[in-house]
Amino acid sequence: MLQLPTYDDVAAAARRLQGHAHRTPVLRSATADRMLNAEVFFKCENLQRMGAFKFRGAYNALSQFTPAQRKAGVIAFSSGNHAQAIALSARLLGIPATILMPLDAPQAKMDATRGYGAEVITFDRYQQDREQLSARLATERGLTLIPPYDHPHVIAGQGTAACELFEETGPLDVLLVPLGGGGLLSGTALATRALAPKCKLYGVEPEAGDDGRQSLRKGEIVDIPTPQTLADGAQTQHLGQFTFGVIRRDVDDIVTASDAQLVEAMRFFAERMKMVVEPTGCLGFAAACHAGLPLRGLRVGVIVSGGNVDLARYAQLIGSAVGPAG
Ligand SMILES: *Cc1c(COP(=O)(O)O)cnc(C)c1O
Repeated sequence: MLQLPTYDDVAAAARRLQGHAHRTPVLRSATADRMLNAEVFFKCENLQRMGAFKFRGAYNALSQFTPAQRKAGVIAFSSGNHAQAIALSARLLGIPATILMPLDAPQAKMDATRGYGAEVITFDRYQQDREQLSARLATERGLTLIPPYDHPHVIAGQGTAACELFEETGPLDVLLVPLGGGGLLSGTALATRALAPKCKLYGVEPEAGDDGRQSLRKGEIVDIPTPQTLADGAQTQHLGQFTFGVIRRDVDDIVTASDAQLVEAMRFFAERMKMVVEPTGCLGFAAACHAGLPLRGLRVGVIVSGGNVDLARYAQLIGSAVGPAG
């Protein structure tokens, strides 16, 4: 029933989001330019509402609910940014929201989700299958399930960040995008092929879980065990049908970044750009620095996808990267 989204869907999402999502800044850093011998443009979605680009996809999906769907409500499963994105979008649109979270999700994330007015239902991630559980709740209560990435409306919404980036910078030579389940990368790919067709587009996933890269190589979706990585927003086990459909067609390649490289990038953002960026949000810049891509002399876009990180954890990570004499 649902079809692969197109650039027209991204453009329609941009209109829906106008006045509701922040138009986040595109920031420069002379240090980054020097480090990479390139012109680097950071699209700062860590400064988006609720702290990540996920607000875009969630709001775009919820704003297309029918009156009956709005009345009954939305359900989502997530321990992270998707939960907060759905909760905030639902509150803004007057839609009741139910969020399924693992029992061991960080307290701060549960509190933030409840703070946006959502009902949080916890489950045991080692005992219960969250997809089954949410499907059952959706049927019992008549709720509409919005998945974190594999939905055309979510993908279209996520693509709007790249539209804004290209509007501001004009065509770029290279664009680096964090990759989990692929909502952000596939939406970005639709925008890129329409607005900057010659731009090389790379997804960046954690080294510990390169299922996306394996999937591209194999030509089919590869499933892996949940990767152990600091990049908790990219701990996905597989791409989706929709996201893979766009990624295999429109993305040039997928590269990886290690946890140590993510921490180094976090420190860079804190020290040089005065920005709090969560580990997953650092994937793009970490790859720009370390993946060996030819960037010299080019105009390089980096999507900084989010800034939600527990402050104690953040301090620990930033501190731990300081050398022994530090
Ligand atoms: C969800 C998320 C990602 C990965 O996005 P996908 O659409 O699942 O690929 C990257 N960064 C942050 C901060 C996220 O919250």
